[in-house]
Amino acid sequence: MELSNRQEISRILASDGFTFKKSLGQNFLVDPTVCPAMAEAACDGETGVLEIGPGAGVLTVELAARAKRVLAIELDERLRSVLEKTTRGFDNVSFLFQDVMKVDLAAVIREHFADCKRVTVAANLPYYITSPIVMQLLESRLPVDSITVMVQKEAAERFCAPVGSRAAGAVTVAIAYFAESEMLFSVPRDCFYPAPKVDSAVIRLTVRSTPPVTVHDEKKFFSLVKGCFAQRRKTLLNTVSNTVGIPKEELRAALAALGLPETVRGETLTLEQLAALHNQLSE
Ligand code: SAM
Repeated sequence: MELSNRQEISRILASDGFTFKKSLGQNFLVDPTVCPAMAEAACDGETGVLEIGPGAGVLTVELAARAKRVLAIELDERLRSVLEKTTRGFDNVSFLFQDVMKVDLAAVIREHFADCKRVTVAANLPYYITSPIVMQLLESRLPVDSITVMVQKEAAERFCAPVGSRAAGAVTVAIAYFAESEMLFSVPRDCFYPAPKVDSAVIRLTVRSTPPVTVHDEKKFFSLVKGCFAQRRKTLLNTVSNTVGIPKEELRAALAALGLPETVRGETLTLEQLAALHNQLSE
């Protein structure tokens, strides 16, 4: 079965009466090179792979051919019969038909991958929940080594930007805290069926065993980071006092103690400077 062939996949889906749901981000890959390259980047024969959103199984079969075990979580129950057909012949694949945001992933990993040397995540993510999924995977400190995902190109650029650069956002800081990011390759919109309005890219996040900076209180650190990026053209002093509610006097004193000017904008700070600012404010 040639799953990355547009005619073939249309035929398989049509024979099950399947119609695409835009609201679930259902744009399926129909390029023969993308999934093998993603699977190579995500796993080897000792890896247990958690796949999110298998769709018709085009990436699933490439993962199954290389990994020790694959567990794919799909929200759309209508794809059950399609996936049973497309992954027939692989005895190392199982499915969970649930919303990935509601699954106890730590328990699922314990249950399915006990005999695997490492666990990774691979996905062509549904675009409507890209950042929430990535942040949930990182913040919950799951025992996963890496996360290889296809996301919209603009999101990929933001996720992988250096902290302190123009392209960075609060999510960039959070990702840099938990993982090392790499942009692997771009995927033009015509590699999908139906074709979306934007191009995509595959990134890999290699999860760090310890964050590169030490912060007093992670929750408050990330709230400060969000505040720093909330009103981009304003000074850190104004945006953080407006959005996080830290008094200007405290912020002035902390900036002065770190040798930073009162006019500095939050998005220009490095991860180390953001951590130092948070630690200074919590003293
Ligand atoms: N992996 C397939 C491919 O590359 O062709 C499909 C990728 S498609 C962009 C995203 C998939 O995620 C769809 O199959 C969709 O039904 C599924 N999905 C959407 N929201 C989900 C959720 N909350 N939990 C699990 N799967 C979800």
